[in-house]
Amino acid sequence: MSAETRRYLELRADTELAEQEAVRREAGWQGLAACRDHDVNEFYMVERENLSSWKRRVWAAKQVCAGCIVKSECLEKALKNGEHGVWGDTTEGERMDIKRRRLVKR
Ligand code: SF4
Repeated sequence: MSAETRRYLELRADTELAEQEAVRREAGWQGLAACRDHDVNEFYMVERENLSSWKRRVWAAKQVCAGCIVKSECLEKALKNGEHGVWGDTTEGERMDIKRRRLVKR
């Protein structure tokens, strides 16, 4: 890779970071959520859904969360508000474990 190409890529990365920061400031962290273009209903268990169906949807939701740059903000909100469904790359049960571990550390 040439020095010019490297410099171009560095400038582009800096620009992307600056743009992300502007969005974050303007819209809050939700403006950067990887799930913002997805059907959020996919992140919640539906009434009478069987476990294998829910597990498949949890897996799919977590694929979205895996690439999300605001995962920690999302997780903290879910922990604070006791949200249902997949938030911050975790299920409700996983968040209960996190809460328990945090309580033990105190
Ligand atoms: S971590 Fe997952 S649920 Fe939270 S904002 Fe990102 S994609 Fe959405």
